[in-house]
Amino acid sequence: MAPAAIVPVQDALSAPLKNHPKLVAPEPEHCPGPESEAAGKGSACDGCPNQTICASTPKGPDPDIPVITSRLAGIKHKILVLSGKGGVGKSTFTTMLAHAFATDEDSVVGIMDTDICGPSIPKMMGVETETIHVSNAGWSPVWVADNLGVMSVQFMLPSRDDAVIWRGPKKNGLIKQFLKDVEWGEMDYLLVDTPPGTSDEHLSVNSYLKESGVDGAVVVTTPQEVSLLDVRKEIDFCRKAGIKVLGIVENMSGFVCSSCKHRNQVFKATTGGAKALAAETGISYLGAVPLDPRIGMACDYGESFFDAFSDSPACTALLNVVQMVKEEVMTKSNGRG
Ligand code: SF4
Repeated sequence: MAPAAIVPVQDALSAPLKNHPKLVAPEPEHCPGPESEAAGKGSACDGCPNQTICASTPKGPDPDIPVITSRLAGIKHKILVLSGKGGVGKSTFTTMLAHAFATDEDSVVGIMDTDICGPSIPKMMGVETETIHVSNAGWSPVWVADNLGVMSVQFMLPSRDDAVIWRGPKKNGLIKQFLKDVEWGEMDYLLVDTPPGTSDEHLSVNSYLKESGVDGAVVVTTPQEVSLLDVRKEIDFCRKAGIKVLGIVENMSGFVCSSCKHRNQVFKATTGGAKALAAETGISYLGAVPLDPRIGMACDYGESFFDAFSDSPACTALLNVVQMVKEEVMTKSNGRG
């Protein structure tokens, strides 16, 4: 059986959003995609229980897109948090950024965790054991504070320890359901935490949110060239997808001793780090967030690092990032971005 064709990123991003048929069985390996033009006709479709459904479903625009757009209509700013590779502390950064945004009591902030294979946000936000409330209006986010809500795909999985081993179409289906059914209400900032890289989840999130208006992406990296290499790909992905990069943040940028405040550079910025990359690509540099061992501890206990260790240089750095992101989204809102 021939493997499914690899769709070039640009084609995948610019393809019209299609209706996904209701299937009677899971998509088999090498499925061309039930919403694709080849659905029901490809060699992988021979003998598939869904063949009649896929072949006869009209290939029109996806009727769920207006539903998603209406769900997110009350959110003023939607910001993606991306990284080129895993291990740069992106989810940790997202939770701290959300807490930093929420220090402004007049702002309502949310985190949307779209990492299906490794959802870690609920643990870091201290809501791992929460169950979500379902009403006629949809699924309600879990509120960590009066002005800080969280929604994660983990809340929809049967067990937190179950591995999710799914292929693209099934993952896309869950992300769509997630975007369609969560009732966010009125909100100032929604941070969308995505898995590392440029995978199916990125294409899905981008496609489904296209009509809702994403302000842009904050790209997280560590200082070493091996991390920056992948960040260049992430920036290229954003450009092809038409996502504005609001700026680059250098995470784990040095270690500040909590006793003597001396700073050590743990990961060397051999090629100039995020600052040099930002200058090279013409993207805003949002700052450097230093390592602090208390960050990991706060995440493990699901506590707000801001409340527990407000004296940390990492808190000061994050508040600067928030200020710069706010300026970037305002620039965009005013039509100067
Ligand atoms: S019939 Fe539909 S579900 Fe089955 S392989 Fe073809 S496109 Fe995929």
